[in-house]
Amino acid sequence: MTKFPELVFSGMQPTHTLHLGNYLGAMVNWIAMQETHSCIYCVVDLHAITIFQDPKELTRNIREVTATYLACGLDPKRSIIFNQSQVHEHAELAWVFNCVARMGWLNRMTQFKEKAGKDRENASTGLFVYPNLMAADILAYKATHVPVGEDQKQHLELSRDIAQKFNNDFAGSIAAHGHGDAFFPLPEPMITGPATRVMSLRDGTRKMSKSEESDMTRINLTDDADTIAKKIKKAKTDPEPLPSETKGLEKRPEADNLVGIYAALAATTREAVLKDFGGAQFSTFKPALAELAVTKLAPIAAEMRRLLADPGHIDAVLADGAERARAIAGPIMNDVKDVVGLLRTAG
Ligand code: ATP
Ligand code: MG
Repeated sequence: MTKFPELVFSGMQPTHTLHLGNYLGAMVNWIAMQETHSCIYCVVDLHAITIFQDPKELTRNIREVTATYLACGLDPKRSIIFNQSQVHEHAELAWVFNCVARMGWLNRMTQFKEKAGKDRENASTGLFVYPNLMAADILAYKATHVPVGEDQKQHLELSRDIAQKFNNDFAGSIAAHGHGDAFFPLPEPMITGPATRVMSLRDGTRKMSKSEESDMTRINLTDDADTIAKKIKKAKTDPEPLPSETKGLEKRPEADNLVGIYAALAATTREAVLKDFGGAQFSTFKPALAELAVTKLAPIAAEMRRLLADPGHIDAVLADGAERARAIAGPIMNDVKDVVGLLRTAG
């Protein structure tokens, strides 16, 4: 089997300010992976428009999410940081994948069902083929590792299926063009840490999301100390004190969520948190959690404010990242065209 050099790719949608779930489920791992891997981190604006976005707000959100990346510690010198729509190979490869992926595969995607809701006939076709664009994001660079939250596991499996089917369908042409026995790697999801699925503060069975209507369901990375304290104070819980062991969190989704958030913020385990707080009431635990969250998030919010005061700098980071991204994706897209048999007469 063809060997592919390790390369990390991941992205977030500029649909709203990033929240604690994005930070703990994905960003913390993104930052760590910069130490060991070449990384490409994208602001996936083409994904965002699968649900209508106000144009002015979208532009603002693209800059804001970029500022969050930088404020959290992504280094634009070490990693490639850019917004998706500036590298047309994403959309181009997504079209090829629209023709590789099967309707049956996409019909199984739970994110589409959740986001389309009851009125499926009225969802955009972009929302339906979202996972094909996600596969293109990753495979336009032949990326091998994708750090994401747990909710993206199914889409990553679909990306692997698409890569595999492309490799099979075009096996003869792939070999004839000198690419060996596989053109694309099968990208691996990296879903790690104590908070791979942070839940809504108002409902322990729903994931914390940018697109959730109520702001009380999530902690945004820009929330001030009072807002964070208020949201945690109002977070749904049950009347029992915290257990001393993790087994006691079973069937208590809200308690489990808050303990998981504490563990992730303190870079420790649920077990260690319960060692300290076992037997405590939420009236004791919640203020401690709020204080920890403020300590961790306040510096990020302050740095974001500083960065957003200079949009020119943010745009320059994105321009540089897009140029470096294109330098990788362009030749791969040309190879895809050759493999598929799409005639190229220029360049
Ligand atoms: P939207 O509601 O617009 O889909 P989102 O909150 O789901 O927004 P995305 O931009 O879709 O955020 O996802 C960015 C990254 O954050 C992905 O890797 C995703 O898996 C991760 N992520 C999103 N929500 C959570 C969560 N609640 N817990 C852990 N990781 C999450
Ligand atoms: Mg999402």
